[in-house]
Amino acid sequence: MPMEFNIPMKYLVLLLFSFLFLSPLATNAQKKEFVLVLDAGHGGRDPGAVGKISKEKDITLAVARKVGDLVEKNMRNVKIVYTRKTDVFIPLEQRASIANDNHADMFISIHVNAAKSKAAYGAETYTLGLAKTKANLDVAMTENSVILLEDDYQTRYRGFDPNSVDSYIMFEFMMDKYLDNSISFATYIQNQFVGAAKRYDRGVRQAGFWVLHRSACPSVLVELGFISNYNEELYLASTGGQREMAQAIYHAFVKYKGSYDKKLGYARTDANEKVVSFAEPYVNEPVEQAYTQPVNSGQETQSTVSTQEQSGAGQPIFKLQITASTKKLNTNSSNLKGLKSLDFYQEGGYYKYTVGAETNYENIDQIRLDLKNRFPDAFIIAFLGDKKIPVQEALKLIKDK
Ligand SMILES: [Zn+2]
Repeated sequence: MPMEFNIPMKYLVLLLFSFLFLSPLATNAQKKEFVLVLDAGHGGRDPGAVGKISKEKDITLAVARKVGDLVEKNMRNVKIVYTRKTDVFIPLEQRASIANDNHADMFISIHVNAAKSKAAYGAETYTLGLAKTKANLDVAMTENSVILLEDDYQTRYRGFDPNSVDSYIMFEFMMDKYLDNSISFATYIQNQFVGAAKRYDRGVRQAGFWVLHRSACPSVLVELGFISNYNEELYLASTGGQREMAQAIYHAFVKYKGSYDKKLGYARTDANEKVVSFAEPYVNEPVEQAYTQPVNSGQETQSTVSTQEQSGAGQPIFKLQITASTKKLNTNSSNLKGLKSLDFYQEGGYYKYTVGAETNYENIDQIRLDLKNRFPDAFIIAFLGDKKIPVQEALKLIKDK
């Protein structure tokens, strides 16, 4: 009977198919997807720390999104989970729940610092622990105080009072099995902040952060810099500064993930993992010295702004910088062809090519989005007359008008 022959034949074919197509998948499946939770601090009715031209909640979201984009673009086997992707209020407890519900392997909470002294600046990364100094405790108290914005915080946080020093005693007796991994990662982040992004190093610190305490995985809380220091705020509020800080966190994560995979005996299958280049260091901007050297009060920058206002140099113009080269480029070449109002300026031995010339920031940002696939690293710059000025300064000039 033909049936007798057909059935085993079907199985044979199936077996062959599974061998050919499923076996490579089966090998990869042993490698669990790594879940990275990106927590942009604050949001919605909670602006976080507020500076002269920006709010903590916007900076943290921009940096978190950029870290996520880099990971998604360059790494395999990593799932990104955001605690928020828009300007919404998320309670602290819920942020930790999002991490736990998604079985997070790493939790990164991104924040911006503020201090009474305008002179304070620099980046620091926290892991959970008992604060050894009052300064560290103050940072944790400020970040935890968002709990008070919730109606039912006393029940939800089981009597934890973010403003009472006594509440923090719990962190002294806490065992954190994730501490070693958290500290390694925090150290990688600080190394990147200092080495690649040229930020002032305030080190790896410990304090009692509720959100770290509740997430059941290695976790760090990054304080990108001080919004209360005007020069640092200009950096953190700029697309270039945000990009650099995101790249720094991304590179630290690539390193952490590499050693994590090695420890678990995973083969290096992440061929796609690459180190992204710093398209153009932010320090190339004219105010570079302000960011790399100790800052006093930020008055210098302000006086520059007012001089420009008085000089009546006209309106700032926004352009999109798409590429830079030591040689003049052929504007008819395939990668530059057909671009609207293509232009270049010279700076630091480079011909820097730009697209667009807009007085409206939204317009130039639209051009940036339109060209995102073609020029993923393009970024917005601003000119006042012939002089290149920081974008935040240009925005401020418009706002003040
Ligand atoms: Zn914060």
